[in-house]
Amino acid sequence: MKKLLVLGAGTAGTMAANKLRRRLDPRDWSITVVDQDDAHHYQPGYLFIPFGIYDRDDVVRSRHHFLADGIDLELGEIDRVEPEACVVRLLDGRTLHYDQLVIATGTTPRPDQTPGMLGPEWRRSIFDFYTLEGAEALAKALPGLDHGRLVVHITEMPIKCPVAPLEFTFLADAWLRERGLREQVELVFVTPLDGAFTQPVAAEYLGSMLEERHIVVEPDFMVERVDAENRTLVSYDEREVPFDLLVTVPLNMGADYIARSGLGDELNYVPVDKHTLLSTAYSNVFALGDASDIPASKAGSVAHFACEVFVENFLQHVNGLAMTGSFDGHANCFVESGDERALLIDFNYDTEPLPGRYPLPVVGPLSLLKETHANHLGKLAFRHVYWNVLLPGRPIPLPAHMSMAGKHVPVKKE
Ligand SMILES: Cc1cc2nc3c(=O)[nH]c(=O)nc-3n(C[C@H](O)[C@H](O)[C@H](O)COP(=O)(O)OP(=O)(O)OC[C@H]3O[C@@H](n4cnc5c(N)ncnc54)[C@H](O)[C@@H]3O)c2cc1C
Repeated sequence: MKKLLVLGAGTAGTMAANKLRRRLDPRDWSITVVDQDDAHHYQPGYLFIPFGIYDRDDVVRSRHHFLADGIDLELGEIDRVEPEACVVRLLDGRTLHYDQLVIATGTTPRPDQTPGMLGPEWRRSIFDFYTLEGAEALAKALPGLDHGRLVVHITEMPIKCPVAPLEFTFLADAWLRERGLREQVELVFVTPLDGAFTQPVAAEYLGSMLEERHIVVEPDFMVERVDAENRTLVSYDEREVPFDLLVTVPLNMGADYIARSGLGDELNYVPVDKHTLLSTAYSNVFALGDASDIPASKAGSVAHFACEVFVENFLQHVNGLAMTGSFDGHANCFVESGDERALLIDFNYDTEPLPGRYPLPVVGPLSLLKETHANHLGKLAFRHVYWNVLLPGRPIPLPAHMSMAGKHVPVKKE
């Protein structure tokens, strides 16, 4: 009996285990998944919690519920991987052996990595919404904001769901307008990037949306520390951004056990081949989802599309065949823009987000890089698709690879 061990029962680990359970003969392969707790979080739902649209019950389910029969779930914190011995040690002393290992332990916000971020003002005037507790604390604090400066801040890239801070900013603008408070609250978007987003066409479009809404952008801001006492962000080049309420996305990092195991880069992401997801160091280790160092967005959609390619590759690999699947970095994300509208972006390693229709050319029904109500309904419906189709690993009628059908390449202005 061969052993497949999956570290992390989040989006990527759950999908991969479920898909492989259907394809690997249970007489030949056991599948074990390890996670530190039994609470699966639908993280895209955190965005809506500060605005009272979702609460904890909408975003948390037991992990057991989603793992197919024939998959063992071990609950415990991973201490280290010993890749030469093909062993994983848990903090409680348990040892798990493997023939093949899939690392899918994601990425985590680390406010401890920025001086002054944690401290007496944490969750008083300094908040995050990348954790359930942070989003819930913000839901309590936001109704108290009736004047002053609301600063939305990204510490450093890469972060998971790089559009989520923009979505938060657009939703905050709409939320303040609905309450007649927008004139009294200055809204500021502070980013280490040189604009609203990483890719030129989307950056221009999203940048103009910020401008229309009179949201001040502070670009190229590399935060050095938070001066919590004076409620100010301070950058390495000594710029200062004062705030009354700070909503920050702390530095995102892969799990610490990856560093302890000598498996990661400086942010604890596992170096892999960006097309096969196979570790560059070990031929029986793959990394899926946010845990890997692939130059794609850290997003559930990327985990999903990559997983489709990974499963076929894995089956070839363990049967001694060359892997023929090649992941193209396909990502697609809804971007909530307030007033019950949203955009959709669809892109990959080589093609930036472009305007057009999705998934079908002309018909859509979704629009790319354009605010529509249909996109907003798509975003809300996605939670049901996540729980009922994606996590169980059921087939979804969308190709894993990005398609140019329906996309328009804008003509460059002279
Ligand atoms: C606010 C927000 C909004 C988002 N919106 C979107 C969106 O609209 N669209 C989209 O596609 N994506 C979105 N995402 C990103 C998406 O949620 C992640 O990219 C996705 O969950 C990644 O899946 P993963 O399996 O790699 O990691 P995760 O789902 O985070 O799973 C990692 C698992 O590993 C476990 N783990 C970690 N360390 C250890 C350890 N030492 N021992 C044991 N277990 C461990 C964790 O408990 C966790 O269950 C959003 C994320 C956030 C925070």
